[in-house]
Amino acid sequence: MALTLATRLSVRPANPAPLVVEADICVVGAGIAGVSAAIEAARLGRRTVLCDAAPALGGQAVGSIIGSFCGMFANGPDPKLVTHGIVDDILAHLERHDAVDYIRNRRRTTIALYDEGVLSRWVETAIDAAGVVPLTGAVLTQVARSGGRVTSASFATRYGAVEVRARGFVDASGDAALAWMAGFACREPEEPVFGTLMTIVEHADEAAVAAIDRAELKARLVRESAARGLRRHDGFVFARPGRGLCLINMTHMPTPLDPLGAARMAIDGRDQVDRLMGFLKDHYPAAFGRARVRVYGLPGVRMTRWIAGRHHMQADEVRAGLRYPDAIARCSWPIELHNRADDVHWEEFADDHMHYVPLGALVPPDADNLVAAGRCIDGDPAALSSVRVMGPCIATGAAAAHALDLAGAGSVRQIDVAALQRRLYDNLERCD
Ligand SMILES: Cc1cc2nc3c(=O)[nH]c(=O)nc-3n(C[C@H](O)[C@H](O)[C@H](O)COP(=O)(O)OP(=O)(O)OC[C@H]3O[C@@H](n4cnc5c(N)ncnc54)[C@H](O)[C@@H]3O)c2cc1C
Repeated sequence: MALTLATRLSVRPANPAPLVVEADICVVGAGIAGVSAAIEAARLGRRTVLCDAAPALGGQAVGSIIGSFCGMFANGPDPKLVTHGIVDDILAHLERHDAVDYIRNRRRTTIALYDEGVLSRWVETAIDAAGVVPLTGAVLTQVARSGGRVTSASFATRYGAVEVRARGFVDASGDAALAWMAGFACREPEEPVFGTLMTIVEHADEAAVAAIDRAELKARLVRESAARGLRRHDGFVFARPGRGLCLINMTHMPTPLDPLGAARMAIDGRDQVDRLMGFLKDHYPAAFGRARVRVYGLPGVRMTRWIAGRHHMQADEVRAGLRYPDAIARCSWPIELHNRADDVHWEEFADDHMHYVPLGALVPPDADNLVAAGRCIDGDPAALSSVRVMGPCIATGAAAAHALDLAGAGSVRQIDVAALQRRLYDNLERCD
């Protein structure tokens, strides 16, 4: 029998009302910080909506193929986890799927190389299991505010406008999009901080890659970068043991906040990757002769705009390992500032070093129900560069959720900080 499918005519109503979603907590940004905040909030029994402009969850951890978790472990020969919460779940999941390799890098720290596809599925299943409502493909267009309280956030999606009304809001957008649109003061770096287009290369020879002398590689790049149109002179090639894949972090590109410049950066970043591959093939044929790019990540954006908080973290506080009275997270990651096109400023810390993040760096001074998390908390560029890796991003996400939970209908300015720190014990004190 011939199949006939019926149709119906549809005309857009003149002024369609937005879909209104009510929640206790609205998280803007579904990168690793927002995912942490949303899962913690939902596990606390809060109705939680997780909104993101991208069509899938996971932010840069997935889409930009960051590929390695940094700042989860303390320094030294016997590294301990310093952040828990979803970290424990993620690592257990990756281990079960043989999708993580721990490596102790030359900067005294331990990092966890992961498979971004497996991480992406963990994010989706964990969000579902926690009961978080996802709103993807949703670009923030407007924020309503009454005094220090954000009352709603509006989004444009392919399928119509959505307004999320909530009691508390987490700005985990990376660019402080929520705080910016709500009219809170934000910070931008005077000098640009460079981003990177990460890439995964297949058919590289892992043993030959591992044998590359990094100092020699850098010297060759210094000599040839101008002629080859390459900006950066250093970086990392992580060969994933036994997997035939390499993760490459060796390019720099500007990451401007203007819409046309932001669109250009993806093309610019890929062009740098292609130039780099040409260089690697010519100089290291044993390692890269057969290699080709398997995946170009989405542009990796480090630092663009962030909130101006009650506390502006400073690099000297990080160097001194200052433990703030309102500390809510910790890590040992170096100062890693990508403030030059050709190089990266590194300041490593001793084996026993630990630095902290204060709640004040997450909260604009005049905000009652908005808390930032992840890479848009407040610090000078050097300080921020030491706490914007994924371990502390997860910890600030958890802290944001608990702070808003404790605030309830009140203000995050008036919560019992000792009670918050008791809840965050694992991310401040635990050391097993
Ligand atoms: C190239 C590169 C390499 C790095 N390497 C490492 C590493 O090896 N290990 C490590 O631990 N860390 C690394 N980092 C740092 C770390 O990856 C990031 O700082 C971290 O992933 C940030 O997480 P986040 O959740 O704060 O932000 P993001 O992952 O950036 O998530 C923010 C989300 O907000 C959404 N969003 C933004 N604006 C809007 C809007 N207006 N409306 C709706 N949604 C919006 C975005 O779509 C995005 O999904 C690297 C960073 C870069 C750029």
